[in-house]
Amino acid sequence: MPLDGKLPDIDTSVAHPARRYNYWLGGKDNFAADRESGDAIAAAFPGMVIAARENRKFLRRAVRFLAADAGLRQFLDVGTGIPTTPNLHEVAQDVDPSARVVYVDNDPIVLAHANALLTGTDQGVTTYVDADVRDPARILAEARETLDFDRPIGLTLLAIMHFVPDADGAHTHVAELVDALPPGSYLALTHATGDFIPPEVVAEMAKRDARSKSPVVDRDRAAFARFFDGLELVEPGIVTVARWREDTEDGDRPADETVSLYGAVARKP
Ligand code: SAH
Repeated sequence: MPLDGKLPDIDTSVAHPARRYNYWLGGKDNFAADRESGDAIAAAFPGMVIAARENRKFLRRAVRFLAADAGLRQFLDVGTGIPTTPNLHEVAQDVDPSARVVYVDNDPIVLAHANALLTGTDQGVTTYVDADVRDPARILAEARETLDFDRPIGLTLLAIMHFVPDADGAHTHVAELVDALPPGSYLALTHATGDFIPPEVVAEMAKRDARSKSPVVDRDRAAFARFFDGLELVEPGIVTVARWREDTEDGDRPADETVSLYGAVARKP
């Protein structure tokens, strides 16, 4: 989608998830409110920076699995975030340069950086859609312009659904996206959980997060598993992002209580 040279409306006074995550990842696309919120949360939960980096490593391993092992050549990535090397299309197009990727995010700062995401190979395609995950119909309509919905698609929802409360229909929106995919498609999803952290730490993080644009909603294992209803989880099932196919990652794997994000990949039968 052309970006029409639009100047996005960027509110720098409250912490935004995309910019705060960029700060934890060591990026430069963040403002004082993002850094203050990021530091306050990391002070309550020191694993935060490691968790953010492990989430990104999960992205690399999961997308490589989807492209190289599952043979997918089309990806729909919702909640893309500020460009971070390697971006999803770089991982997929490293396996096959003809891979097609549709990126979706609702944050104006991600829109402002979208050109950096539209740098795919000549053989492949990357496009960007400015949309909200709570509007699946719109996302699907836009994605159909780039992706062939008669061929398998990898739907990636990485560290986004914990910004969508139950009252906003988090599970229903994911189910609607999954329903539109043909058999042989996959869902990869990562999500914050309080399952491994003492309740008082979870409560303190929530208190420090309350003023940000989209406060995080932790979900337990059962609520996380419900995102995969009707799908077949691939090995190793539901684990923290650091443990998912950990044998393909270099270096020590951090403990679950440090990572506190569930991750899983599942196939649509
Ligand atoms: N998927 C990337 C980035 C995660 S940061 C990764 O895992 O590394 C979370 C992203 O979700 C942010 O860019 C934020 O803007 C986006 N996001 C949060 N709520 C959203 C919503 N309702 N609709 C679309 N995007 C959303």
